[in-house]
Formats: sequence, structure tokens, C-alpha cells
Amino acid sequence: MKRLSFLVVVLILSLSVGVLSACSSSSSSNTSKDDSSKSTASQQDSSSSNQDTSKHPIQIVAVEDFYGEVAEAVGGDYVKVTSIIDKPNIDPHDFEPTANTSKIVNNGQVLIYNGIGYDNWMDKLISSSSNASDKTVIRVGDDLLNKKEGDNEHLWYIPSTMPTLADALADKLAKLDPSHADYYKQQADKYKKSIQPLQDLVSKLKQDTPKKVETTEPVFDYMLQALNYQVDNEKFSMAIEEETDPAPADLAQMKNDLKNKKVAFFVQNTQVESPVVKQLSSLAKENNIPIVKVTETLPAGKDYVQWMTDELKQVENAQGQ
Ligand SMILES: [Zn+2]
Repeated sequence: MKRLSFLVVVLILSLSVGVLSACSSSSSSNTSKDDSSKSTASQQDSSSSNQDTSKHPIQIVAVEDFYGEVAEAVGGDYVKVTSIIDKPNIDPHDFEPTANTSKIVNNGQVLIYNGIGYDNWMDKLISSSSNASDKTVIRVGDDLLNKKEGDNEHLWYIPSTMPTLADALADKLAKLDPSHADYYKQQADKYKKSIQPLQDLVSKLKQDTPKKVETTEPVFDYMLQALNYQVDNEKFSMAIEEETDPAPADLAQMKNDLKNKKVAFFVQNTQVESPVVKQLSSLAKENNIPIVKVTETLPAGKDYVQWMTDELKQVENAQGQ
């Protein structure tokens, strides 16, 4: 008797659960139908806003993969990010867009690139695309950092660049997709928190009084500035980056500085090989001057924080020597 009533209760319960779930599923499908009809209507109203991002993610194109990483973090579930320069062996200074590059740019709704002349082939690709006026364009240097052509282009070495980009992206995405505005803001905050250890490391390694260093190229200069190091051989490093011959007097001064241990460390861009760079790095080694090895592009298998941390750890080691 007891058992029977238990069975009856179970039966009644499962029936009502069935009814409930049937109800809720039908009501949820009604809502989603309403949603989709609303968004279709609004898409017809204005071509540039309110797309249904759950089904059609916002297409973001980043020229440099380290900016693409920020876009992925901020856009999360509602974006699809394509990075153009996404391998360490592509030299951004020599990059030539292909037909495929223009196709990617043409499909992009949000375009992120470095700007200030680093990747100005993008300006042309955007203006010649069929839907240029519908695109949201973020040039990190010109639009966010108040930099201009002729300034040092390696902006991702400024510790505040990625947080600034994250906030700007959250704003732009919120305009394109207002229903997820809060989500983008939260994602940007989460991203900024995730790179805080990097900011902390920069503060920790910052020198109280400026110290001199030498570099083979201006790639790491913004970070050096943040750490209160002074580059003692700007003309030389510009010559190497521009692939021209450095002036003999500049080279002689550098050699002297290394021999007389006048610099805290020697920064070498390992992506550039030249006899003169080789010669200088051996001279640094001979004189026990620490070498900090950096790269222009994101190394394979690392994210931005790992990349920067690895380079800063070398500075930390150099400080300990
Ligand atoms: Zn460069």
C-alpha cells in the first residue's frame, strides 16, 4: 500500500515535470522567435547596428595577432576574430597584402591595426572595400594613444596600450551590439585584471634614477622608458631597423660603451641577424654585459602576458647582476 502510493506520487510528479518542461520549452521557443523577428526588423531599419550576435558573431579583423588576442578576450562569445599577421616569421615592416588579405578586410566589421604608418596598407584596403563606411576602425596609435607617423611604432610595448584597447573595444562593441554592452564591459575588466601582474612587474623593475642601455633596434624602447632606462644609441638602432648602415662614429661609441661597461644591459632583437649585431652581442658577452633578448612579433605558443613577462624576467636578471 505504501509502495503503491509512492509510485503514484512519482508518477504524478514526473507527469507534472513533463508538463512543466513542455511549458517552459514552448515559452522559450516563443521568446526566441520574438527575439529573432525583432532583430531582423531592426537589421532592416539600420544596417550597422543590432545584429543577432548569438547566431552571427561580429567579425573582427586585427592586423597584429597581439591586438587580436585583446579582441577575443573582450568580445568573447559574440565575436569572431581573424588576425592577419599571426606568425612570428612574418616581418610586419615588409608585409604585402594579398588578394586574400583584402577579402578578410572586406568581411571585417571591426578592424584593429597599429596605425602611425606601421601597417598603412590597411588604409588603402579599407577605403577600397565595398562597405568602408559601415566599418568600425580602431587605429591603436592614431585613435587611442595620440601618436602620429614618425613616432616609435612598437606601441604594444607601452604597458598601458592593451588596457586602453580593451576599454575602447568594449565601447565600440557595445555600440554595434547594445544588448551585450554589460558583457563587453565585464570582459574588458576581466582582461585588464588578467594583465595586472605584468603592470606590477613593470612597477617593480622600474629604476629610481635613469640608467643607460644599448639596443640593436627600437623595438623595446617604450618598455625601457617605462622602466626608466635611457637608450644611448638611438641613431644606431634606427639604422638597423631601417636596414641602412649605421654611422661609423655611432658604432664606435657603442663599442666603447660596451667595453667600458657604461650600460646596464644590451637589448637585442633576435629577429634580426646582421654581422654588426652579432659583433656587438659578442662584445657585450665578452664584457659580461647582460643581454636582454626581445622580439618584434608574438612568439609562437605564447600569449601577450607570457611574452612580455619572459622579456621582463631577463631585465630582472640583468638587474641582479
Ligand atoms: Zn619594428
